[in-house]
Amino acid sequence: VLKYSPFVVSFRKHYPWVQLSGHAGNFQAGEDGRILKRFCQCEQRSLEQLMKDPLRPFVPAYYGVVLQDGQTFNQMEDLLADFEGPSIMDCKMGSRTYLEEELVKARERPRPRKDMYEKMVAVDPGAPTPEEHAQGAVTKPRYMQWRETVSSTSTLGFRIEGIKKADGTCNTNFKKTQALEQVTKVLEDFVDGDHVILLKVGKPPKVPHANQRTLPVTQQKYVARLEELREALEISPFFKTHEPSTRTGARSYSSFIRRSGSRLKPAIQQVVGSSLLFVHDHTGLAKVWMIDFGKTVALPDHQTLSHRLPWAEGNREDGYLWGLDNMICLLQGLAQS
Ligand code: ATP
Ligand code: MG
Ligand code: MG
Repeated sequence: VLKYSPFVVSFRKHYPWVQLSGHAGNFQAGEDGRILKRFCQCEQRSLEQLMKDPLRPFVPAYYGVVLQDGQTFNQMEDLLADFEGPSIMDCKMGSRTYLEEELVKARERPRPRKDMYEKMVAVDPGAPTPEEHAQGAVTKPRYMQWRETVSSTSTLGFRIEGIKKADGTCNTNFKKTQALEQVTKVLEDFVDGDHVILLKVGKPPKVPHANQRTLPVTQQKYVARLEELREALEISPFFKTHEPSTRTGARSYSSFIRRSGSRLKPAIQQVVGSSLLFVHDHTGLAKVWMIDFGKTVALPDHQTLSHRLPWAEGNREDGYLWGLDNMICLLQGLAQS
């Protein structure tokens, strides 16, 4: 196992597998076209439920728990398997990336943490207060809350975790990428590779080549896929907002229930620390999936979420749809330029 991220793991197959975030050693090769991720009950529950949900096409297929070399794993679809030399981007969604419970727990015994101070200084030497500098330490709740304010998590409802492009270049250092112009640039660079195929759209022009917009296929496909994802989220019993936000949503939800004969009990989930994994290649294939459900947990019975309202401690809002709205807007903006 390589020590530095991104981890390029050579699986028993003809393509190298890329891990853009998380701990080295969390993943292993599974059967053909599948990967194993270190077991987490929260993720197991989420993936099991998602297999019976309208979100199913937007998450890796789940194949249950397996034991390998004395360790337990969740087995799931390898989303890279169908691509040829893919470009990959991991965007962590939501307006916060920790659970309220984690914050509460961190506050219980706020010990000074030297390791977190060092991580903070590495990102921004000016971030610690004079007292924190003198102590050479910060508390965990302080560190958790500060970290969200330096990236676009707090300003856009998502942040870029890592990108690996088909040309081999790789960047996982977006901790301070916050400004709209910066994020736009990074997205532009990601979708606008050397091998982008151009598609001409719009009415046939009277004068050849006039009034024609050329839109890179990759961007179009990403935008279309994200719009479909948003529709699925808005009718999903798993993700459930407090009410279907549009009449279309209500209609397609009841028709989903009719078609699938589903009797799912809607349990509203807060989706925290989950990512969108963007993958495209030179053949023009471009898709997005939701991954990483280690912090996706059901809410108490009485509580509901809009997934769009700002977070205030106690309301448990995750900002997932807010981030997705912003992501779609940004990508559409690129497509129109
Ligand atoms: P963290 O919580 O720090 O984000 P994690 O250990 O929970 O990390 P994930 O976020 O699920 O791990 O995945 C880490 C990386 O592994 C992703 O950024 C992606 O590059 C890759 N990955 C995860 N799941 C899949 C999948 N099903 N198919 C292909 N690649 C995947
Ligand atoms: Mg992750
Ligand atoms: Mg995770």
